Amino acid sequence: MKLPVPRIPGRRGRLQDIPVDGRKRVLLASPRGYCAGVDRAVIAVEKALERFGAPVYVRKQIVHNIHVVTELEAQGAIFVDEVDEVPEGAHVVFSAHGVSPAVVGAAADRGLQAIDATCPLVTKVHREAVRFARDDFEILLIGHLGHEEVEGTAGEAPDHVTIVNSPDEADTVVVRDPDKVVWLSQTTLSVDETMETVRRLRTRFPHLQDPPSDDICYATQNRQVAIKKVAKDADLVIVVGSANSSNSVRLVEVALEHGAKAAYRVDYADEVRQEWLDGVETVGVTSGASVPEVLVQQVLEELAGAGYRDVEQIRTAEEDLMFSLPKELRHDTAGRRDERALGGRTTTAGADA
Ligand code: SF4
Repeated sequence: MKLPVPRIPGRRGRLQDIPVDGRKRVLLASPRGYCAGVDRAVIAVEKALERFGAPVYVRKQIVHNIHVVTELEAQGAIFVDEVDEVPEGAHVVFSAHGVSPAVVGAAADRGLQAIDATCPLVTKVHREAVRFARDDFEILLIGHLGHEEVEGTAGEAPDHVTIVNSPDEADTVVVRDPDKVVWLSQTTLSVDETMETVRRLRTRFPHLQDPPSDDICYATQNRQVAIKKVAKDADLVIVVGSANSSNSVRLVEVALEHGAKAAYRVDYADEVRQEWLDGVETVGVTSGASVPEVLVQQVLEELAGAGYRDVEQIRTAEEDLMFSLPKELRHDTAGRRDERALGGRTTTAGADA
């Protein structure tokens, strides 16, 4: 897989402290950053490296964050697009976004030692797809065409799944039997936009069945609720996260829809531009579910240099969901069990300003 050249964050402290009419402050959204599924997937790669030695192959980016990926590369992970790039018999980790049965089969055919770091909340959606397909439902999978998670879920029941990429597509999608349709979704979508898609689908298919429980995961929902609260008071919102991170990109959109006068996404603190701060009193800050907290702290440092030293945390939920390690890594070579329970390392004590 061709990755961008690793970014070395540039010089910080570039931003000038230019006076504004009111009080400069930062509203820091919480929850933000790492969710339990990302925490688990990143630790799975680290633990696989520790246990089996480098290199460990990873199919696709383990999570959609360029900083995380380049750090793991430095430790000996090799990221590939497909399992046929992995030497026969080697260890391969499947990313948090999940894989289709075809990928699992291709890995087995090559004799690869697969470690499945699929987030359990993605696996839940896979199971729903299998179950509804078995009952011969047509599954309208709301999600982004080409996203790895959508490919994995659709691959569970390719003959039963139709992808609905946007609310507009809800108006045109064609189904076999309008009385036997169910909708499922990608885990990292905008809640509001997804509900709009469902509303439009239901107008056309009144018997549309709902998923048994929310497919948009707790972490995606919680980060959107927090940024909505911040955005209404923010002149500017900065979302830390990578361009291919669905939930990070959604946070920019949600911020703009809920009152932020401007919102931008950055991978690193040195991407914050001076002109974004023109006349800005209140800056909202958040981060996507695949973003290590250190990157947020660097943005806060950069903002502090521009006079935004007053940081108030806006907390809208507590998160305590924990996952255990992928089963392939739960025991060491001596058979001892690793009982670690992995939650999202969302906020650090120091971040509770
Ligand atoms: S964003 Fe949600 S579905 Fe994705 S890894 Fe995190 S908890 Fe799992």
